[in-house]
Amino acid sequence: MSRFIDGMPLAQAQALLQARVACVAEEWEVPLQEGLGLVASRPVAAPTPLPAFARSTVDGYAVHSCDTFGAEEGSPALLALDGEVLMGREETVPLPAGAARQMPTGGMLPPGADAVVMVEQCEVVDHATLLVWKRVAPGENVVQAGEDVPAGHPLLAAGRRIRPEDIGLLSACGVRSVFVRAPLRVGILSTGDELVAEDRPLQPGEIRDSNRPMLSALLREAGAVAVDYGIVRDAASALSAALAQAVQACQLVLLSGGSSMGLRDYAAPAIDSLGAPGVIIHGLAIKPGRPTIVGFAGAVPVFGLPGHPAAAMTVFRLLVAPVMRLLSGEREGSPLLLPARLTRNVASAPGRDDFVSVRLVQRTDGLWAEPVFGRSGLLSVMTEADGVLHIPSASGGRYGGEWVQVAVYRLEQIRRDEEGEQKR
Ligand code: AMP
Ligand code: MG
Repeated sequence: MSRFIDGMPLAQAQALLQARVACVAEEWEVPLQEGLGLVASRPVAAPTPLPAFARSTVDGYAVHSCDTFGAEEGSPALLALDGEVLMGREETVPLPAGAARQMPTGGMLPPGADAVVMVEQCEVVDHATLLVWKRVAPGENVVQAGEDVPAGHPLLAAGRRIRPEDIGLLSACGVRSVFVRAPLRVGILSTGDELVAEDRPLQPGEIRDSNRPMLSALLREAGAVAVDYGIVRDAASALSAALAQAVQACQLVLLSGGSSMGLRDYAAPAIDSLGAPGVIIHGLAIKPGRPTIVGFAGAVPVFGLPGHPAAAMTVFRLLVAPVMRLLSGEREGSPLLLPARLTRNVASAPGRDDFVSVRLVQRTDGLWAEPVFGRSGLLSVMTEADGVLHIPSASGGRYGGEWVQVAVYRLEQIRRDEEGEQKR
């Protein structure tokens, strides 16, 4: 077990986990619709070109583009009307030179035609004659066969979390099922003699267990299944027994609380009791989140998260979420970084990575990040924030007005700060 008095540097902990954790999620083949939100485990290549034939992108007339050369306002091209292309029908009759065939958006281009004139630029003179008021270039208003996706090209990469638009593209190519990773089963439990579950009355001195519901929500948001092992007393044997059960049934286990080095903190010995290798990190050089434990029971990662809600959330995002991506073979999912200017100075001690919660405010001169300070552990501070400013251990604090990168975990509407603008 490595005990770091000052905590292990974050980058070192991240690298250690990166090297140690592999994909364990089972592979399923599911009907395409059921793949939504799951991670693709195998790439899918286009079985056929998309579209399979050249199609018109406008309502108009299919032509030989050379027949329209020189057409312009005041000097239209005169073409012979040659029937109509029907939606969903194959066009086999070639378009004669000097002719134009009526064309719906999405219809199949007749053999010989190489462009479509928009209906707005045409005038039907009589049942046999069309005037074209504007020339078209070869290929104009046409999607060529394979222009969307050539045959054999990737439609879906392994490791991608499947989105509705992926399902659209795969359906267009006739793909009906996909190979995906099964959602991870993640065990959660809280420890703390002060903690009370939601269905019990609260006695003086007790607090509600808010980390378990929050972690459960974070897990579900990340596409995992949370397996709830409830609240466990601050006692080594009870904790060991509950953890042993969780590591049997789950691919990852999160324990909240008892992760410091106090007399009644049993997370580390309990994780060690599960067998080799046990605790590999105890203490991280970050704020919030210093009392963090990372261990393994065999290949199953077990996190001892700090009881402080803001710290638990921070460590979840910094370490747990990337581990979940490794376990499920997901290749995407880093938070979005948005540049913003700081509204005020932020102090930071060297030697540790600081994570400062900020509100983002849109002003006429751009995006501003306003630190939401408060005592650590205040839950309302977290709900006030839109993102997190990372101050790496090598650098000092930041000045008000400085440009910084804010990690944004969800793109909700950023508020307009009319009050702040009037003040300035
Ligand atoms: P601990 O990590 O057990 O030392 O707890 C640190 C702080 O977080 C203490 O104030 C605890 O009461 C609080 N805390 C611990 N676990 C939870 C939890 N599950 N929900 C809310 N607060 C907690
Ligand atoms: Mg505790």
